[in-house]
Amino acid sequence: MKSLLKVLLCLSIMSWLAGCSPEKSGSETQSLSLTDLRNFERSNNAEVEKKIDDLISQMTLEEKVGQMTQINNSEIVANAQWGAGADLKIEIKADTAKLAKMLRKYHVGSFLNGVAVPAETWYQFYKDLQDVNMRTSRLKIPLIYGVDHMHGPNYLKGGTIFPHAINTAATYNNQFPADMAHVTAIETADIGHQWLFAPVLDLARTPLWGRYYETLGESPYVASTMGSIFVKTVQADSAIAPYKIAATAKHFFAYSDPKYGWDRGPVDVSEQALWEFHLPSFKAAIDAGIKTVMINSGEINGEPVHASYWALTEILRERLKFKGVAVTDWEDIIRLYRNHHVAVDEKDATYRAINAGVDMAMTPYTTKFHDYLVELVNEKKISQERIDLSVSRILRLKFDIGLFDNPYPRNDRFNRIGTRENRAKALEAARESIVLMKNDNALPLASTKKILLAGPNADIKRSLAGGWTMHWIPAADSLFPDDMLTVKTAMEKEFNSVTLAASAAEVKSKASKAEAIVLALGELPYSEGFGSILDISLPDEQIELIKAAQATGKPVIVVMISGRPRVFTKVYPGCKAVLFAGLPGLEGAQAIAEILSGKVNPSAKLSFNYPHSVNRLVPHNHKVSEVQLAHEIPNPIALLPFGSGLSYTTFEYSDLQLSDSVLTSVTGEIKASVTVKNTGSRDGKEAVLWFLHDEVASISRPVRDLKYYEKELFKAGESKTFTFTIKTDQLSFPDKKGEPVLEDGYFTIMVGDLKTRFKLQR
Ligand code: BGC
Repeated sequence: MKSLLKVLLCLSIMSWLAGCSPEKSGSETQSLSLTDLRNFERSNNAEVEKKIDDLISQMTLEEKVGQMTQINNSEIVANAQWGAGADLKIEIKADTAKLAKMLRKYHVGSFLNGVAVPAETWYQFYKDLQDVNMRTSRLKIPLIYGVDHMHGPNYLKGGTIFPHAINTAATYNNQFPADMAHVTAIETADIGHQWLFAPVLDLARTPLWGRYYETLGESPYVASTMGSIFVKTVQADSAIAPYKIAATAKHFFAYSDPKYGWDRGPVDVSEQALWEFHLPSFKAAIDAGIKTVMINSGEINGEPVHASYWALTEILRERLKFKGVAVTDWEDIIRLYRNHHVAVDEKDATYRAINAGVDMAMTPYTTKFHDYLVELVNEKKISQERIDLSVSRILRLKFDIGLFDNPYPRNDRFNRIGTRENRAKALEAARESIVLMKNDNALPLASTKKILLAGPNADIKRSLAGGWTMHWIPAADSLFPDDMLTVKTAMEKEFNSVTLAASAAEVKSKASKAEAIVLALGELPYSEGFGSILDISLPDEQIELIKAAQATGKPVIVVMISGRPRVFTKVYPGCKAVLFAGLPGLEGAQAIAEILSGKVNPSAKLSFNYPHSVNRLVPHNHKVSEVQLAHEIPNPIALLPFGSGLSYTTFEYSDLQLSDSVLTSVTGEIKASVTVKNTGSRDGKEAVLWFLHDEVASISRPVRDLKYYEKELFKAGESKTFTFTIKTDQLSFPDKKGEPVLEDGYFTIMVGDLKTRFKLQR
């Protein structure tokens, strides 16, 4: 009753302040005051905190709102041709007069975006931007520039480009997120790209979604582990001194599970599932000290996230204790009005977003946000205190990464870009990220074999890298380095005889001379909504190509180069070997060719369930009841399950042992150990994945939940013992409020093909 009264009181105060009806208020559930938040967020650096307070006390409202405004570079470059989708073209040369005009009037504090141009071009551009800004800014507040470098410096010509995250996850090797973070840092910090819109911490849930490849797969544990390694490495890299980088956890949160698979579509997920699946990776990044968060463009259970006080303040600030900057995604305040229809106009949308907890608006083409927000404050609908809170966060970010001391880029260390050493790291990541799904003794192929190569991805560069490479959607191979290999050119280095067939008919006519047929299949690059599809079947013409190749009677080897699994179950049995290459990046073709030839022994494992059927898209961490027999109807959950992946050697798991079979206290632990032996005749790496299953619980639990992994190199014949320490926090699960629930009972532990059980009994 008391809380109901409190809500009613709040509602009436807020509606009075907002001058609109109670149900339109954005702040009725506010529990922590703005002052509480501001005090909580203060750092230990008293000197910086004083500077922030001093600046805020001197800033005009217009200057403050300018800090909260982020504009796309298309609005300030000399020659912008900003087309839709693949036509995106932009010249990275600042129009300083246009820029000065915008800065004088709107005091904009941040710009974003890019395409791949040389470091020297970026350097000049950013120098011009900061120069004009430092001359214009009354209080000398530096600009901060944000770029989507999410698999290496993907918007830097000559940069080192790594595999996409879906591949990184498949390596189960924590060295690679760290390598990628380090290389990205040293190749971009000097050109002024100190705000990286990475890592993507959304969880892979449905391959219909066109941003599947940007994720670290289906496991919250992998996403949390690798995501936070990236964050810690990139934000603390001393090699880029005097600069520092801020990372962005995106897209906060539950963006990746649109009900019907469409990008930015509504997400309907239970609150328990939000805590179980979608929040852990963000929590891990926040605990790792991530400085910024980008907001989910969609809606969760009916609440568009950009207008959700629950998501942006109660969960993000109060529960997860995030102290940094929350930036909107592209145009998303406007979309509250235009797409979600929760605001009557753009001004109302601005009111809702700011009161919900947005700090900075990626507007990105317009300064209207600035006008509306100033009006809203002058009309007393949004408080000065609310604005000061966001501005303090933004200024703290700028102090934190050293922008006040070092606002300008430098061009004396460009010899660190695209070096042989950096590229070797990207190549190694690619090699360990390609999954050998199937091998009926067809691979490796001897270098002397006569190979017929076909398929839409046989001789093309851009499909190896996917979206967010060179361009938002790279539409032409001419964007890519001259020395980048395609599958064909890479195979020509590994094999004596590679013949290209341009069509199914050519496969038929040229097959007689071949000893094996390699088909490079999959997808062309796409990004965001352009990756939305109606059907995840492998396109018909590619199925026909597989059939034509199989009809020749020669061994058919499929190399799937794709941002997500595409279903080809019917023709799968007839393939002698299948590689899921994913999006292995600029060095990817070499990695593929070396795996085909056996120079490299594959060691990746799937980071998702490879679907069996297009209408049965079930992640590996599904519930038990998903697999119950229904009237003898076949119910394959996957063509190949999460964690599968072959090697050219074999590994045997034995001697799974527990230090105890009962855990008797919350602080206790059990050590599980297993012996893994390389029983084959060549050296190889093996990732050892440990899963748990809670056998009986008060709410249904996933059939398996990855809790730990390690990867090691084994000499032929070598055995190693792996240990996993089980603690009770790995046995609890979140309830719908996100509170951990620990229940006594049996747990199954699974590793390789072994399993055993233990009991929690307090
Ligand atoms: C994407 C973000 C990206 C932003 C800036 C948006 O459309 O959703 O992931 O960071 O654009 O390019």
